[in-house]
This record gives sequence, C-alpha cells and structure tokens, in this order.
Amino acid sequence: MSRTAATADWQQLDRAHHLHPFTDHRELHARGVRVITRADGIYLWDSDGNRILDAMSGLWCVNIGYGRAELAEAARAQMLELPYYNSFFHTTHPPAVELSRLLAEVTPAGLNYFFPTNSGSEANDTVIRLVRHYWAERGRPDKNIIISRHNAYHGSSMGSASLGGMAPMHAQGGMPIPGIVHIQQPYWFAEGGDLAPEEFGLTAARALETAIAEHGEERIAAFIAEPIQGAGGVVIPPATYWPEVNRILGERDILLVADEVICGFGRTGKWFGSDTYALTPDLMPVAKGLSSGYLPIGGVMVADKVVEVVSGGEFFHGFTYSGHPAACAVAKANIEILLREKIVDTVAGETAPYLKKRWSELADHPLVGEARCLGFLGALELVRDKPSRRRFDPPGAAGKLCRDICADNGLVMRTIITDTMVIAPPLIMSAAQIDEMADKVWECLDLTAKALAA
Ligand SMILES: *Cc1c(COP(=O)(O)O)cnc(C)c1O
Repeated sequence: MSRTAATADWQQLDRAHHLHPFTDHRELHARGVRVITRADGIYLWDSDGNRILDAMSGLWCVNIGYGRAELAEAARAQMLELPYYNSFFHTTHPPAVELSRLLAEVTPAGLNYFFPTNSGSEANDTVIRLVRHYWAERGRPDKNIIISRHNAYHGSSMGSASLGGMAPMHAQGGMPIPGIVHIQQPYWFAEGGDLAPEEFGLTAARALETAIAEHGEERIAAFIAEPIQGAGGVVIPPATYWPEVNRILGERDILLVADEVICGFGRTGKWFGSDTYALTPDLMPVAKGLSSGYLPIGGVMVADKVVEVVSGGEFFHGFTYSGHPAACAVAKANIEILLREKIVDTVAGETAPYLKKRWSELADHPLVGEARCLGFLGALELVRDKPSRRRFDPPGAAGKLCRDICADNGLVMRTIITDTMVIAPPLIMSAAQIDEMADKVWECLDLTAKALAA
C-alpha cells in the first residue's frame, strides 16, 4: 500500500482490521477515522493534506516536537551497532548505562538509580512490586497497602489501572487488585463545593491522613500521585495541597511515589513536577517525555535508600525489552536536546508565562467556567452556568462536540469525560504559535456554543 492511497482506503482497512485503544468503535466508524501521515514541529498533517496544530503533543509526550532528525540518527546508529541485547544475566550495554547516568543527573537529588521499562504502565506495575518487596525485605510484609486517588491515571495494565482511580476502567475486568485504597482528589472545580480552593486543598490532603489512620500506618506501604493529574483533567492542586501531604508523610514511615510520566521532562516549567512542588519521592515512574515518544520507553527512578534495602537478593521482575538499546539511545538524545537547547528554561522564563496570559483570557468565553494552566499544561471547564459551575447534562457530549469541532478546524484538543478540554503542547511552541493556538481555541469555543444552542 503506497502513502498516496486514498483516505477512504485507509479508513476501510482500519475499520476491517484495527482495534483502537480507549475507543468506541461504532462511534469511530460512524465518523470515520482520521489518518495522520506526517508531522513537523508542533504540526500534524492528515492524509487529505490538512495541517493540524497538535496542542496535545501526541499523548502528552512529544515534548521536543516532531521531526527531530537527531533522534532518528541515534536510533539508526544504535540499531546498526547493537540492535538488541538484554541486561538480565550480568550484562549491560552503553546506551542503558549512559541513559541511567544522565537521568541520575537531571532528576531530583537522591534518585540515582533507573529501572527501565517500556511504558508508564509497566513502570507503575514495577512500582507495586518494588514497594511491596521493599517492605518485605525490611521484615514488614503486611505493610503492603498503597494509597492512590480517585480519578488518578497510572496506566492500563491490571496493576497500573488498579493504582489508577478511573471508575470506568475498574468496571471492566475485575479491578482494582487487592491492597489499593483510593482517596479524595484535589479537584477544586469539580469537588470543592463552597470551600475556597486553599481550604479545599487542605481537606483533600487530610483525606490521606484519615486513610492512614483508618488502615493503620503499619499497613500502609506508599502513597502514589501525579504532581498534576493529567488524564484526570489537568487537575492542578490548590497551593495548600502538596505542602500538607509533605507534612503528613514527613511524620510517618511511608514511601512517596511521584508519577512523573506526564509532569516529567519540563512539562510543568521545571524538570520534574517534584521540583515544582518540592516533593522528595522515593520512587518516580517516568515515560512519555523521556523519549518524547519517538520510541517506547519508561522506567522507575529509585531512591538510594530503597536500593540499599532491595539490592541484596534477586528481585524477580523485568521485561525482555527492559532498557532496549535503541530506545535508550533515543531517550538520551532527547534529554541532550532538552539540555542543549535550554528548552525547560525557555518554558519557565518565557513561553509558559505567555501561555498563562493567553489561556487565562479564555475564561471570558461564555462556555468556560474555569481556565487553569501551569507550565505547558492547561484545562478549560465547559459549563452551562458559570457562577454555579454547573456542567452540561449529560456530561461528556459538549466536550466531544468541542473536540470534533477543533479537529475539523485544524486543532487537536482533548476532552475528558466531564467536559474538560485539555492541552499539553510541545515545549518548543513559540509565542506566535501560542497566539495561533489560543485564537483557534476561542474560535472553536464559539462554534461549540453555536452548535450547543442549535
Ligand atoms: C500515560 C500515563 C501512564 C501510562 O503510561 P503508558 O506508557 O501509556 O503505559 C502512567 N502514568 C501517567 C501519569 C500517565 O499519564
């Protein structure tokens, strides 16, 4: 099949043979799948030649933008030199060593070890096993409950989806697995009621303290959280939330797992969400921006104090492709670009403040109940009534309408089930491109309002 095949041919074959992740196939086929054929910078092109501004960086991952020849060269050179070898049986290879060393350098102090996986889901499955193994090694096998939060996203495998707090996922396939407890999330707009955001932030944090008291500190192994929830709707916690969580964990012997799969590698305007919120995680799952999505790779950064406990005796866990040489070489080249081009500094000092200004203006739109933004993460809450924060009924339809209107007008903006529109643009987006995106978003909100009124 040549690249010039008509869109209808791709669509027909896709329909006949391709099962998509997180997709209602009847809905998909009614509308017709969009075929993406190439990309450059912050733009995608579809098979009909339409240019689309990708305000989602693919799936929150293409941090350095599309079209980086350097990453292709890194993969090619590595594949010719050593396309595959494992690190199970007392062997290693240069890309795994060099990536691990570089990660120890850019991640927060105290995280000096990298356990590679092939995805964020595998990283979080590794977290479950490593956390429980850690406490067992310390002679406390009953300290095995992990506390997570409702509406968290930690992946789609049995373990990671159980850690996550997505009710529709738990409803399919018998999740969560035992030993995982979900508490209140710090989502003020949806759940804050009459409380001021700062008060609500404290309430949400203290749900952790309550859960620990309920189960007993001697049973609680770890607390896992995204610094900012991504797939849950870019839930930026109130300023009081993380300091209070830090206080609660600081008084207790419980591990902190910061899931940095989205927040990592510059997304929040610092290298990691943990830097933004002054967290000192014991384990830090990463993926997505680790390779800017050019090849699949994830992993867990592990604190020295955990490594000391688990490094005697075998940890019976790993994957055939753990630390795949080409993926490691690409991730390393990706981080080198972030460093060399000072991309995180530019986001922090120039483009994120400008995005904040332009994004905040969207709160003036009649459909928008809240426009929030931190670093290169943003969300809009579509509402029927602004003062009461009342959403559309049934929830979800307005967001899908808005998403489809965006797609038809050359913009990828994602919708979350509650009619929350989210963005996570490539970190290389310029001020002029931020203007282009913000203008387009406003235009699409107008079209959405019109369609909703009709
Ligand atoms: C995407 C995501 C994951 C899962 O990563 P996959 O590579 O899709 O398995 C885990 N945690 C967070 C916070 C994510 O956003």
